Amino acid sequence: MSTKISLTDQFIDLEHEHGAHNYHPLPVVLDRGEGVYLWDVEGKKYFDFLSAYSAVNQGHCHPRIVHALKYQAQQLCLTSRAFHNSAFGPFAAFITKYFGFDKILPMNSGAEAVETAIKIARKWGVQKKGIPQEQAQIVVCHGNFHGRTTTIISFSDDKVAKKDFGPYTPGFISIPHNDIAALEAAFMSNNNIVGFLVEPIQGEAGVFTPDEDYLRAVQQLCNENEVLFIADEIQTGIARTGSLLAVCGNCDCESSCLRQPDTFAAPDILILGKALSGGVYPVSAVLANNEVMNVIQPGEHGSTFGGNPIAAVVATVALKVIKDENLAQNARKLGQLFRNAMNDYIKTSNIVTLVRGKGLLNAIVINDSPNSDTAWNICLALKENGLLAKPTHGNIIRFAPPLVMTEDQLMACVDIIIKTLRSFEPK
Ligand SMILES: *Cc1c(COP(=O)(O)O)cnc(C)c1O
Repeated sequence: MSTKISLTDQFIDLEHEHGAHNYHPLPVVLDRGEGVYLWDVEGKKYFDFLSAYSAVNQGHCHPRIVHALKYQAQQLCLTSRAFHNSAFGPFAAFITKYFGFDKILPMNSGAEAVETAIKIARKWGVQKKGIPQEQAQIVVCHGNFHGRTTTIISFSDDKVAKKDFGPYTPGFISIPHNDIAALEAAFMSNNNIVGFLVEPIQGEAGVFTPDEDYLRAVQQLCNENEVLFIADEIQTGIARTGSLLAVCGNCDCESSCLRQPDTFAAPDILILGKALSGGVYPVSAVLANNEVMNVIQPGEHGSTFGGNPIAAVVATVALKVIKDENLAQNARKLGQLFRNAMNDYIKTSNIVTLVRGKGLLNAIVINDSPNSDTAWNICLALKENGLLAKPTHGNIIRFAPPLVMTEDQLMACVDIIIKTLRSFEPK
């Protein structure tokens, strides 16, 4: 007699047995998605409150984006850039106008785009700033998350992400996030600095939102010191924080606000990934003006799949959906409602100490030691109650639903979250 194993456990067992253990997923096996909803293999329905780390801003299986994917998949998938293809040029023209830069360098994953930005900044430093060979330094922030390659983990201070993977790539100086004085001191202490690589809001670290004027001060200081301001907006970009980009500040992005000097902290290099894909197909991008991007010449950088026709049309439509469906405005409005509701709850709560964030990139801090598993247990309970979220470092739960959510759906989610948190309040 064999005991019956659930479908969920069968899939989890297969993955555990044959997949490398490089993640620690919540025990749910998803099978279908539509808009803000996900269904598991048992048919249970959930609200998605992670959006694949903000890659699915446009909602799961958005019909326009899926249509673009299907069309292009039957037309032409891949040429490599040994030849031109008829999709990349129009995409390059579209995205550079959309974000206000001269040029794009297309890649696939976020980490690759960060690597690309690092290479561009170093080469720019040698060629335009006269930095001696192999001396270029890039300033980064404590608590950063920029991906998983060997170079990127070299300047991470996440011990788990870094330990035993050395030797590490040199050339990085780490300072606190949201600290202009520290940036200034770094610029004073070293003449070989070529760039400052920063997440406008630190997502993985626990949604740390800097002071209102931080990014504009960063831009100004970088400018004065002839250092490239490199904004990693892989998670914060593309309407997530209530404007098109987090560097837009509090601009509502209703009209073509980009590069209006009183709202926009213009980066010299903008890095995008995640929601550039609409959650459909890996695509990332590095954007810069000619003075910077033109340091890269044939043979110096590339990727077999970078700029492929499917990615080009998928990303084009993913960006159109953002504007056509007013997703930045929706994120701004719903984000405010969400934080208001959570702040009301926190007044009488012992288990949640605070909510922070911008637009629909938010997090709550759980009142327990960073080493306890309370946040994990709350996420398990949220799952039972029909909402999927994931803890991040140190007893923090990130809440980032797709931006196509309606106000009614958000309020239903707030009810689930509050009901669940209540069950964790000390008796
Ligand atoms: C997710 C993320 C990355 C890495 O993107 P991948 O596609 O996972 O390589 C880099 N920077 C930030 C800010 C991210 O959130």
